[in-house]
Amino acid sequence: MTPVAVVGDSLSAYAVVAALAKLGYHCDLLCDPAKSHFFGPSLVLNDVSETLLAQLFPDVNLSIYSQRLTHRLVRWGRQPVQVEQPALAIRSHSLLELLRNSKVMQHTRMIDVSQLTAQQISQNYPWTVYTRHKQRAIALPESSQSLVGGQRVIVTAEVQDTPKSAHACYIESLADGWLFYAPVDGGAMLQACLPITPANPRRALLECLYKSTTISTFVNDLQKVNCFSSAPHLQWPLCGSGWLMVGEPAIKIDPVSGEGTPFALRSAILAGAVIDAILSDRIPDISALSHYQTRLTHSFISHLRGCIQFYREVFSTNSAWLPEINQMIDIAETLSTQLEQQAVNVLNYRLIDFELHIG
Ligand SMILES: Cc1cc2nc3c(=O)[nH]c(=O)nc-3n(C[C@H](O)[C@H](O)[C@H](O)COP(=O)(O)OP(=O)(O)OC[C@H]3O[C@@H](n4cnc5c(N)ncnc54)[C@H](O)[C@@H]3O)c2cc1C
Repeated sequence: MTPVAVVGDSLSAYAVVAALAKLGYHCDLLCDPAKSHFFGPSLVLNDVSETLLAQLFPDVNLSIYSQRLTHRLVRWGRQPVQVEQPALAIRSHSLLELLRNSKVMQHTRMIDVSQLTAQQISQNYPWTVYTRHKQRAIALPESSQSLVGGQRVIVTAEVQDTPKSAHACYIESLADGWLFYAPVDGGAMLQACLPITPANPRRALLECLYKSTTISTFVNDLQKVNCFSSAPHLQWPLCGSGWLMVGEPAIKIDPVSGEGTPFALRSAILAGAVIDAILSDRIPDISALSHYQTRLTHSFISHLRGCIQFYREVFSTNSAWLPEINQMIDIAETLSTQLEQQAVNVLNYRLIDFELHIG
């Protein structure tokens, strides 16, 4: 059987490989060695992520490099609330290293994509899953649209931990942004979300700490300051004949929800199930691909609605945040209309374990 091509070298790429392996397929991982081993943000993985990772990579022991959390303290415009929330905090490069050493990834062939064009990839492989935008490697249709719900960013830093905060993470709204803090493997992670990219990220983070009443009490030092875009985003369409997109290039989830990794893992599992359903002639390709696009778009719209409500609670009169909220409203409406106009927009299938079935 010809392998499936998976373009990328990230959590989503590995999850697609693992999901397809569960169904008996081999993948080739098409990655650019020059761009591998990128240091992404530290992550707090919720219990859904942990369960899905354990199913996809049963031989991986996440606890080696991670910190177990039991609670989240939320100070979102009012008195702080403590919520019980089991989670694992882990640096993304530690997570990727653990997954890269899993049995399934060790048995996957890695191919240098830097010399391949989109045309060559589609000639060599009947199915390609893109988990990374790459010039020339992704043949998006001309009608492709990037729907972005704002321009906010997250400034991240590593800090020295204090024992007091060892099993809880914290989220705190400020007048014009929010802060997040979690202990992670001998240190801690700090993140500040701001509606525009600051000229000096370190100074912006220090200014946020100056306004904070909770998180600032744990932070004594900032290291490795970095900046990531964090506005939700969807690339439409998400799939076409012989290809699907998974992970951040397809759909970006606002990190405020803590749902980015579970969303990426679920999409990877669904992408694998769609390819399997088509290749095994169980479901016609048009129906299976429509299911993929409809299911993920519905989830993304729900995510946007949650974010709109959440941000309105604290930023409804803030002139820098109003465009963020309005752009999310706009893309939620655009996507709802697009779903209504799709030829097939009914969800006729469901996932049973890793397979897609009628019903
Ligand atoms: C600041 C931030 C914090 C997050 N925190 C959480 C969390 O606590 N819990 C959770 O479940 N999810 C979180 N997420 C989401 C999570 O990182 C991804 O959804 C998930 O890892 C899926 O990753 P992926 O393989 O699709 O993308 P990846 O390729 O791993 O990308 C993850 C992030 O890194 C950026 N990135 C990747 N490569 C590069 C590069 N070469 N240069 C610059 N940037 C790059 C991407 O744009 C993306 O924002 C967070 C995302 C961001 C941006």
